[in-house]
Amino acid sequence: MMIVSYIGLGSNLGDSRQILTEAIQKLASLGSVQTSKLYQSPPMGPQDQPHYLNAVARLETELSALDLLDQLQQFEQEAGRVRLRRWGERTLDLDVLLYGNQQIQNERLTVPHVGILERDFVVIPLLDLDPNLHIQGHRLDNLALLQHTTLTEVADQCWANI
Ligand code: ATP
Ligand code: MG
Ligand code: MG
Repeated sequence: MMIVSYIGLGSNLGDSRQILTEAIQKLASLGSVQTSKLYQSPPMGPQDQPHYLNAVARLETELSALDLLDQLQQFEQEAGRVRLRRWGERTLDLDVLLYGNQQIQNERLTVPHVGILERDFVVIPLLDLDPNLHIQGHRLDNLALLQHTTLTEVADQCWANI
């Protein structure tokens, strides 16, 4: 069955723009993809790390949620991701933000992603892709965090050339 999933992308090590572009191309091998604009954001967690580039991809896929997570973790490995510290610097982070309207809770996967409603670097790109998006009864465009965002737009929705 075809599911619409939203994937959060982040990078703050290496050539982040190139890494995110390659990640979008890999996502396109899993199904039909659309991208948000590309943003720069200050780090969450430890502050002594570079700023991030962030985006969100909308993916239509036949993969199960766990098969999708397996693919995302493989793409992170291929980008040379090494786990240094919690919320620390990384070449590539790929998170399942939404998987259809399903709620998933197991040892590998929590969907909707924790923090989805508290992170402007997730909410703003999600709104690029669907201005009417609702999550758990919240209209995303009504969230208070949109009043004091720390995000800077780096490129329009054509940034990944797909
Ligand atoms: P955060 O999840 O707060 O954004 P993070 O992305 O830095 O932090 P990771 O180190 O990338 O965290 O992932 C840690 C674990 O989170 C993974 O091993 C994965 O099994 C689990 N996980 C749970 N829910 C999700 C999800 N929705 N998407 C991706 N990974 C998830
Ligand atoms: Mg993350
Ligand atoms: Mg992650």
